[in-house]
Amino acid sequence: MIIPVSCFTCGKIMGNNQEAYLGLLQMEHTEVDALDTLGLKHYCCCQMLLAHMDLTEKLLNYVPLEK
Ligand SMILES: [Zn+2]
Repeated sequence: MIIPVSCFTCGKIMGNNQEAYLGLLQMEHTEVDALDTLGLKHYCCCQMLLAHMDLTEKLLNYVPLEK
């Protein structure tokens, strides 16, 4: 799934950070360095990126309208 637009706890805008975060990880930054680069200091905001799993491809296998 896509990352939520804003942090559930503090309300900081998070939706624009996912692509930058994944780009930093592909450039072989550590998770801590990537979060620091994006300016994310609160635990609530960091956990949204660290714990996010992209399930979009898996959910496309279950199309409810197809019969
Ligand atoms: Zn937050």
